[in-house]
Amino acid sequence: MPEILYPALKDLEDAYDRYRDDPDFSEELHAYNRGYGGRPSSLYYARRLTERAGGGKIYLKREDLVHGGAHKFNNVMGQALLAKRMGKERLICETGAGQHGVATSLAGAVLGLKTEVYMGSVDAERQRPNLFRMELMGAEVHEVDTGSKTLKDAINEALRDWSANVNNTHYLVGSVVGPHPYPMIVRDFQRVIGDELKSQMMKKEGRLPDHIVACVGGGSNAMGTFYPFVDYDEVRLTGVEAGGSGKGDAASLTEGTEGVLHGAKSLLLQDEGGQITETDSIAAGLDYPGVGPEHALYRETGRVQYTTASDQEALEGFHLLSETEGIIPALEPSHAIFTGMEIAAEMEPEDILVITLSGRGDKDLETVRETLT
Ligand SMILES: *Cc1c(COP(=O)(O)O)cnc(C)c1O
Repeated sequence: MPEILYPALKDLEDAYDRYRDDPDFSEELHAYNRGYGGRPSSLYYARRLTERAGGGKIYLKREDLVHGGAHKFNNVMGQALLAKRMGKERLICETGAGQHGVATSLAGAVLGLKTEVYMGSVDAERQRPNLFRMELMGAEVHEVDTGSKTLKDAINEALRDWSANVNNTHYLVGSVVGPHPYPMIVRDFQRVIGDELKSQMMKKEGRLPDHIVACVGGGSNAMGTFYPFVDYDEVRLTGVEAGGSGKGDAASLTEGTEGVLHGAKSLLLQDEGGQITETDSIAAGLDYPGVGPEHALYRETGRVQYTTASDQEALEGFHLLSETEGIIPALEPSHAIFTGMEIAAEMEPEDILVITLSGRGDKDLETVRETLT
């Protein structure tokens, strides 16, 4: 991290230490999660999907039903409320495909914080509807024209802004990535997924699930799902990365090597000279060359298994869930659906598998339609 940001990161860590166990803060976050976000999200027994797999029982943790249509809500509300407690008046963030920008914009709007989003001009051109969503919610979007005009250039511009405006500005990071304390903070705000899952499963089945599957981009929905189960060795955990099209992929944990990116040491897709390589996935939210450092840890200790599903396999998962359950999933969790189906098929009928459905598919309809012509 640039030295100039060190004090800001320390301030954030101190503030988080102060508020993480503050009942007043927890109650406020809980109230937004419940009343505004629609939490708890349901844990749904997918009967027809289960029959199709022909093995263990399949449940879906329905983050697609949360406000904004994905799990990103959990993190942006948590960080935006923290920023407000810290006396910040302004949120900034970067966005690639636009989903994190849209999520940050809704949190900024509902809490009355000025929101500015950095987005590469190439990405902005590809994602006009998301740009419009952000603007409708009152955010200002800065199109970044430097470098490759995509995500990593947007990150550089956001960091530049933050260095100049740390006093009144919070940089709202979108996944369990970046420098400490971000991977910890984002994990903690996302663990609501796993905490709910655990108590819902105890109510429905009287025990913990045998296996849980989630997709991994930066890794926040998977980390939020897995974290409350890490100490229960009887629960198997599987993260699914983007195997891409054959031209390339975005599988940092499966194929990456150790390196440092954006203030964290983790596994990265890079060449021998340490240059970050281009990633390729049909799911915009998985298209990131790095992954959260805590995932790299769980891969090393073997606590979590990581695997990949290709673009083609994700499309199979997408159509399968749409047809069997009437739920159109986002392309990111479609990777987890494909892998989850394979795992369930090998299980006994009394075994239980949970797949985290991280978001809904409205944003991906055009992408999928293009694959059909
Ligand atoms: C952004 C996004 C992801 C990827 O982010 P993680 O931090 O890996 O969770 C996955 N699914 C959906 C629906 C998303 O919007």
